[in-house]
Amino acid sequence: MADLEVIDGGAVLVRDGLVEAVGRYREVKDQADDAEVIEIDGVLFPGFVDAHTHAVFGMARLDDYERRARGMDYKAIAAEGGGILSSVRDQRSRSADELRDLTSRRLHHLLAHGTTTVEVKSGYGLDTATELGALAVIGSLTAGPPAVVPTFLGAHEVPLEYRSRREDYVRLVIDEMLPAVAEQGIARFCDVFCEPGVFTPGESRRILEAARGHGLGLKLHADELDGSGGAELAAALDAVSADHLARISEEGITALAGSGTVAVLLPGTMLFLGRADRAPARALIDRGAAVALATDFNPGSSPAASLPLMATLGVSQLRMVPAEAVLAITANGAAAVGEAGTRGQIAPGFRADLALLAVRDWRELVYWYGSNLVAGVWIAGAACHPAGATINFLV
Ligand SMILES: [Zn+2]
Repeated sequence: MADLEVIDGGAVLVRDGLVEAVGRYREVKDQADDAEVIEIDGVLFPGFVDAHTHAVFGMARLDDYERRARGMDYKAIAAEGGGILSSVRDQRSRSADELRDLTSRRLHHLLAHGTTTVEVKSGYGLDTATELGALAVIGSLTAGPPAVVPTFLGAHEVPLEYRSRREDYVRLVIDEMLPAVAEQGIARFCDVFCEPGVFTPGESRRILEAARGHGLGLKLHADELDGSGGAELAAALDAVSADHLARISEEGITALAGSGTVAVLLPGTMLFLGRADRAPARALIDRGAAVALATDFNPGSSPAASLPLMATLGVSQLRMVPAEAVLAITANGAAAVGEAGTRGQIAPGFRADLALLAVRDWRELVYWYGSNLVAGVWIAGAACHPAGATINFLV
């Protein structure tokens, strides 16, 4: 994972949206004398790939944040009407147009931080109509920019009306939501929140196996706040990714290291929640697992749009070296959304998704934390940021 090639005085030749050649300027120029030349100053990275977001949501949860600052825990906040179920109530009351407008504006913030592909989950509907509605909103934005990969997360939480009959909710996800999602072709992956108090490994397995039967790829929220064997389950099901992993077990590390499942770590979430747990990035990498970093962009536990910030946290909090952190938001992020062969690298045949940073040394990406150094973004060779001087409100 520390294998990163840096070209001084480099050039990228783009044709029909794909990288045709990359190398020293003069060598590349020789291959295409008639090409339009765009001179840039800085370091050009592969466009960043954010493999885990919950970017479809209505209101920001500012009250929850203040309550937490005053010392209230998750249960007390939920008892006052906050928490994830407040996002569910809010989303059920929104029109599709409102939700689309909010989501689109937020995705542009991710783009402005260099993200060219972003995975977006449903999961604040928790009833069939609202889940399908959220996926329709995501679907209307897939062309981007940024490009969007849609994931169905109906099993994000057990909604209030099913609390005394949770098996009925699992059945609703399997028997009603998944077939509808598959029939409409509006999700590429299915994800489940596998966590003590949310969905058990047994329930998660049933939902994910049903999803696979419908042709969906698999993802898993695993071992975030407490370990429950989620990483082992993700590896056993050959999921494309196992995400969070702050409380992964030794067995879980071994399972991921021996699998093709990418470990997607979300250090911004632990930081924002003020928790001391850290995903064991060092052990995962040293034992051979592929590690990606993502924002977990969501209104409750990580309202952060910046993948470069996550790369900084990967280095400072998870003890990754800078090259590992860069690969974690590019090539490995792409692998975690099933695009290892098409995005996340500046290499012939890859889509020409590029992020220009106003820096001299590539390691500055993980160094100037809190500053947005992105000076330009291209997707499939087309310039798509900066888009102008309009103020883009997040709420
Ligand atoms: Zn999540």
